Amino acid sequence: MSQLSQPSADAARPRPDLDDPLWGPHWRGIREHELRFQQCDACGTLRWPPAPLCPNCLEPAHGWTACQPEGTIWSVAIYEHAYHPGFRAQLPYGVVLVGLDCGINYISRICPDDLDRVAPDQRVTGVFVEVEPGLVLLEFELVRSSSADGAANKDQA
Ligand SMILES: [Zn+2]
Repeated sequence: MSQLSQPSADAARPRPDLDDPLWGPHWRGIREHELRFQQCDACGTLRWPPAPLCPNCLEPAHGWTACQPEGTIWSVAIYEHAYHPGFRAQLPYGVVLVGLDCGINYISRICPDDLDRVAPDQRVTGVFVEVEPGLVLLEFELVRSSSADGAANKDQA
């Protein structure tokens, strides 16, 4: 690798296009702290990623429906190299593929506090984070087990 190609550490991170005709409604939902997916008007199939036609019945008509950002981790990747200069300052960071309870497989970040204990099969819930002024993203955090919560809260009443 050439040293000449090293990007600067303060490069801007890529931002979603809130006005994109296909992706905009999803990103505007995230900004409003709601996880929205296309839903086919004809058969009800959720579409992810957004698409002009339903992958199940080829119907173009659709609305947008909100889903709970809760699910189970299928896989984890820890990034120690920035493949875009705008992510360099955040290294290392974790990316998880989450099987949402609504049936969508969704890729996003794991909260930095959970980086050292994240693993497949763990339950996660979404957290909407304003990572920069005007830029809200959905991250996931591990769901603490209710038995552990109960033990932690015991005798505090
Ligand atoms: Zn359909």
